[in-house]
Amino acid sequence: MDRRIFGLETEFGLNYVPSDGRRLTPEDAARHLFKPVVSWGRSSNVFLENGSRLYLDVGSHPEYATAECDQLKQLIAHDRAGEVFMLDLVDQAEDQLAEEGHEGRIYMFKNNVDSAGNSYGCHENYLIPRKIEFKRLADMLIPFLVTRQLLCGAGHLITDEGETKYVFSQRADHMWEGVSSATTRSRPIINTRDEPHADAEYHRRLHVIVGDSTMSETTQLLKIGATDLVLRLIESGEIYHDLRLENPIRSIRQISHDFTGQTVVRLMGGDEPTALQIQWILFESVKEFIARHGAHHDQVDTVLELWERTLNAVESQDFSLIDKDIDWAIKHKLLMGYARKNSLELSSPRLAQLNLTYHDIDPQRGLFHLLKRRGLASSVVTDAEILQAVNNPPATTRAALRSKFIRAARANGRRYSADWVHMKYEDGPGGIVLCKDPFATSNPQIDELIELMGQQQ
Ligand code: ATP
Ligand code: MG
Ligand code: MG
Repeated sequence: MDRRIFGLETEFGLNYVPSDGRRLTPEDAARHLFKPVVSWGRSSNVFLENGSRLYLDVGSHPEYATAECDQLKQLIAHDRAGEVFMLDLVDQAEDQLAEEGHEGRIYMFKNNVDSAGNSYGCHENYLIPRKIEFKRLADMLIPFLVTRQLLCGAGHLITDEGETKYVFSQRADHMWEGVSSATTRSRPIINTRDEPHADAEYHRRLHVIVGDSTMSETTQLLKIGATDLVLRLIESGEIYHDLRLENPIRSIRQISHDFTGQTVVRLMGGDEPTALQIQWILFESVKEFIARHGAHHDQVDTVLELWERTLNAVESQDFSLIDKDIDWAIKHKLLMGYARKNSLELSSPRLAQLNLTYHDIDPQRGLFHLLKRRGLASSVVTDAEILQAVNNPPATTRAALRSKFIRAARANGRRYSADWVHMKYEDGPGGIVLCKDPFATSNPQIDELIELMGQQQ
């Protein structure tokens, strides 16, 4: 498969801080936040004109799932567009609350753990061919996913047996098993629920739920770009190393807690490489694979360069190599610098606050955004590209069809229902249109439906 469909789902953390002493539960705050969505789409689960899905599940973690993308920069722009939608909802909710006599601010975080210790996710979706045996693919991918936190962990402070330390990942301590079909009851690394949102005969949707949310676009590029490359290697059948892990969940925690990357990982075959060695093996295999087959998109060299530089940074413990590009390193520099300047222990509540504020999506308040403005964090897409993604679907995937369908419905004041595959005008002409090909950008049935609807006005 030369082209691949990608999608990112991000759940956000939410906190309402009153300035008048009148508290709101997170559930109440989330309900307020979604009022404009419900009045726009008659539901707290809607598909937007840019092809994405915005929804509020039980609980208080609003989610934005990007439309189907087939290019990395496009995916990053669409993921960032989710933050723009959320910020807009925050503004509206604060105004609404003020009208109701509540004085306070809503804070939204793109992170993975709240103060009560609940964890919420950032899910990655990759279209993969059905013909590959799934168990085999998962066995080969899990060693990469378990060690990938060296590349793209968001960095976190945890207290373990009375000692506070800085670790690679926010999610690692919340993962309970390797592969499972349930997401919240137990937390697997890969979710095996088989919902391809495509032709099930040929495709499957790989649903990775182990990653940290990323603030840094560069980290995002590495995370998705390297995972795609490893998938390509597995799909090609040219992977020759058996890196199957004896106990992925034990390893994922140990690796997260060890900043040297030297944690020994026991393989099923009995070998005991370090986390860093596993990453080097995969990196070298991918690099050779690309040398043999050529790059399949224009970001491959950038991904490989970032990957190699990050592994070198961990190996040499010289984090300055990546402290503008990789979330855990950007945040590490911020926290350690602050601790040193103010003679603080890592357990200081002020550091916990910085650790949280790094993830605040508000461009004025959020520390990641502040660092970016000061040139201390790199970016991949421009503001104009993000705005383009707020207002338009990816033009190269099925999302373009969904967008066209939704726009026509709204222009005609027509009720509609949509999901990733189906589209239908309620009490309107035509039936339900099924679009199983996520790469399709044209569909005569949709054009016909839109035309019929126009005639009925
Ligand atoms: P839930 O959050 O309700 O458990 P889910 O996690 O299975 O459901 P959604 O939140 O609806 O799924 O998000 C699905 C994601 O998968 C979106 O980002 C979407 O762009 C992406 N996607 C859609 N079709 C495909 C496909 N065929 N292959 C890969 N990704 C896809
Ligand atoms: Mg989801
Ligand atoms: Mg999901």
